[in-house]
Amino acid sequence: MKVINPATETVITEIAEDTNQSILEKFDLLTKGQQAWSKVNIADRIAAIQKFYDLLDENKDELAATLTSEMGKPLQQSYNELNGARGRIKYFIDNAAKYLAEEWVTTEGATKEKIVFEPLGVIANISAWNYPFLVGVNVFIPALISGNAVFYKPSEYATLTGLHIQSLLYKAGVPENCFQMAIGKGSVGEQLLLLPLNGYFFTGSYRTGKYIAEKVAGKMVPCQLELGGKDPLYVADDVDNIQKAAADALEGVVYNSGQSCCAVERIYVQENIYDDFVNAYAEECKKLKIGDPLDKDTDIGPLSRKEQQAFLETQVDDAVILGAQIVCGGKIPDRKGYYFEPTVLVNVNHNMKVMMEESFGPVVGIQKVKDDAEAIALMQDTSYGLTAAVFSKSFERAENIMQQMNTGSVYWNCCDRVSASLPWSGRKHSGLGATLSYQGIRAFVQPKAYHIRG
Ligand code: NAD
Repeated sequence: MKVINPATETVITEIAEDTNQSILEKFDLLTKGQQAWSKVNIADRIAAIQKFYDLLDENKDELAATLTSEMGKPLQQSYNELNGARGRIKYFIDNAAKYLAEEWVTTEGATKEKIVFEPLGVIANISAWNYPFLVGVNVFIPALISGNAVFYKPSEYATLTGLHIQSLLYKAGVPENCFQMAIGKGSVGEQLLLLPLNGYFFTGSYRTGKYIAEKVAGKMVPCQLELGGKDPLYVADDVDNIQKAAADALEGVVYNSGQSCCAVERIYVQENIYDDFVNAYAEECKKLKIGDPLDKDTDIGPLSRKEQQAFLETQVDDAVILGAQIVCGGKIPDRKGYYFEPTVLVNVNHNMKVMMEESFGPVVGIQKVKDDAEAIALMQDTSYGLTAAVFSKSFERAENIMQQMNTGSVYWNCCDRVSASLPWSGRKHSGLGATLSYQGIRAFVQPKAYHIRG
């Protein structure tokens, strides 16, 4: 399997994919390792994760450079991702023992009762490339702390980062037979679906997530899915500062070249401030610097995958044919690398792909709405349900809208944000189950009810 630098289109290295035989051998190893790991004191399991947390910092320059070279995000954003991942790990280190401890629920009377949380066993962590550290630690950190063994399948677009993660976990004291990597493309991930694993934790597209959920349904084991989104942002006419609203919205659209599950993908603006907002947004957008992700002035690096250029071009063409206007960007720049210009479309509507399909790029449509009711109807007109944001001066007004969103997260005067202490979950085609927070710790254990008499 070739690892390609999306900024230069050069081959960084070639890596051998796992075979059916090597996957079976790794599974055998994990099955044995998990038994012993689950008996290790939780304080010792947490100590290994604490060491991993330290190693991420000690090795941050190499890790950030690798991440940028294989998936193209600007170097500073790779450092930000590492920092963010360490913040999440810290949350698990500080909170896991509390939520995994046995709970006595009845201590009086003839029959005492308690709940014990047992690990699931050997779980699959099938992961995406856009934030390999963040989406990885959501799963393998709480899974390991709670006594599971992990079969980790990084995306084929983030394999080198996956290999770094594996070697640092081993260095930190996680036994090799508790963490193994499945290296390769989707066909290697497919092998994991055939194994009798005890849980499937997937981050990726709706298409693959649906396939996996259907394929493993008969196993009757947990299957959690963190999938895509088409996340809306509504700018109400009482915002304090239109320039700031536009700059914040732009950040939500283009960060990581728009390749975030919770990126802002649609903007609705109340009619009386629409023109001012569009002008402010376009002005900010034109200032963005596309370039080499290793250059510290670069705002927009390449897309990670070549096919995504044509995908975005089709969305823009479709919108223009149906009457949209390009205010900014809209093209594949004439340079090496998988770049796409940050793009703003106006005169858009819900007949256009750009307002309905996940773009996963630095592209957004801005639509005019009459009032909150129209905004709510349009925000809810989607098969996805990851996040929704409202910019308004009034919390009451925003809260009324947030309550009506069928999404896992809602934002008032912010967007494109994840917190370790809040559950991260998608509704409808955006997923099933939650990671992060206490729910994302309990997701990796099964309760056993003890009825104790005598
Ligand atoms: P993808 O679905 O193409 O791939 C995800 C993973 O699944 C990869 O490791 C891939 O090799 C593997 N895979 C592919 N086919 C498989 C099969 N048949 N069996 C088993 N494994 C298989 O997704 P992607 O392009 O890596 O990620 C982008 C998508 O992920 C976007 O839709 C994005 O919104 C979503 N995402 C969601 C979240 C979230 O928290 N909700 C976070 C990050 C990314």
